Amino acid sequence: MLPHRICSIRDLHKMNEFDKRVEQHVKKVHDLLIMNQPIEPTHVLAAFVCETIGNPTPYVVSIGTGTNWIAHESLTKDGRTVFDSHAEVIARRGFKRYLYNELTKFTPASDNSIFCVSDVSDGKLCLKDKYKIHLYISTSPCGCASPHARHNARDKLTTRKERSYEFLMTDSKISKKHQSWDYVTEQGKLNLRTMTCSDKVCQWNVVGVQGALLSHFLDPIYLTSIIIGSNFIKDRVQLALNRRLESFSREIYNLPEPFCVHSPRIRGRVNIQINDGNKTSLNWYSELGCQVEVNNGFLGRTFFEETSSRLCKKELFTAFSEVCNLGFFHWGRLLEDNPTYLELKENASSYKEAKTALSNYFKSSGFGHWIRKPNEVDTFRLG
Ligand SMILES: [Zn+2]
Repeated sequence: MLPHRICSIRDLHKMNEFDKRVEQHVKKVHDLLIMNQPIEPTHVLAAFVCETIGNPTPYVVSIGTGTNWIAHESLTKDGRTVFDSHAEVIARRGFKRYLYNELTKFTPASDNSIFCVSDVSDGKLCLKDKYKIHLYISTSPCGCASPHARHNARDKLTTRKERSYEFLMTDSKISKKHQSWDYVTEQGKLNLRTMTCSDKVCQWNVVGVQGALLSHFLDPIYLTSIIIGSNFIKDRVQLALNRRLESFSREIYNLPEPFCVHSPRIRGRVNIQINDGNKTSLNWYSELGCQVEVNNGFLGRTFFEETSSRLCKKELFTAFSEVCNLGFFHWGRLLEDNPTYLELKENASSYKEAKTALSNYFKSSGFGHWIRKPNEVDTFRLG
């Protein structure tokens, strides 16, 4: 076991020695990545960190920075644009790439990946018990966990408004309009909205951090802890990420097994500060020879060449297809009939049911409506 410090009740939400070690490792990797880069570093940094039980050294598996997301003119249907470049979202995309890479290392006979065969789902793998995943964020996530959230929005689902740092509450009218490609891309209008990181991280506590496509191969992966480096208002963050889910019932909302309502440990540092943003967003994940990639958060493309990022959906689709072709279980069948990215998401039936269950809970409990992008953004194919 790790030598966690014994805490008094008052200290339970403060960063402990392990959390500080995580922060040090994340910052060290980040500083090495930005060394010699001709960019101004962004101020919000997030990372997925793997802990191996019995080993006191945390292992950084992905890093993301960024405070921006694309303008409606940059929205595309070909899967080659990254829509949301907030640090948490980018770090999670990098984490997905790390998972795809680990899947290619898996063989049933050897012990060289982080996965083993699942006991609860047929034809799937799960994270071995000895590995725990932690999320580090240098500041509280945007939305209702943020110190800047309006008082009446503190437990509500909120979206970010285009070219603005304002958080807006959601209702059924807005939610419906956002299903329309023509509405969100209307020239000269700033209609495009995206859910805040507080809501996205809260959603991960039910559907897992692996996303829809990886759930074809994996049981849900939940965060063991969330460590917040600054702007941590304990009650607000706990409410946004954990306590909003307290009344969520598996039976009422039909949450399928093995999904569950997971409550990660959340600790942080108050240290109130302003995080100015800029358009750069960088990403890195643990893979042999992986170098930092710098993107323009407004364009959702690489900063200098303006080509597609390795974290765009199209690239993740390619990584998905490589795992399908490994020959395990019946994964090869997933690519029969050349499905679209949207079809693969829809076919991940348990994941989809879990997402719908949560969305219905939010709606019927008065938290608001989950805003989705129009389906057109996911209708591209692999070839
Ligand atoms: Zn955010």
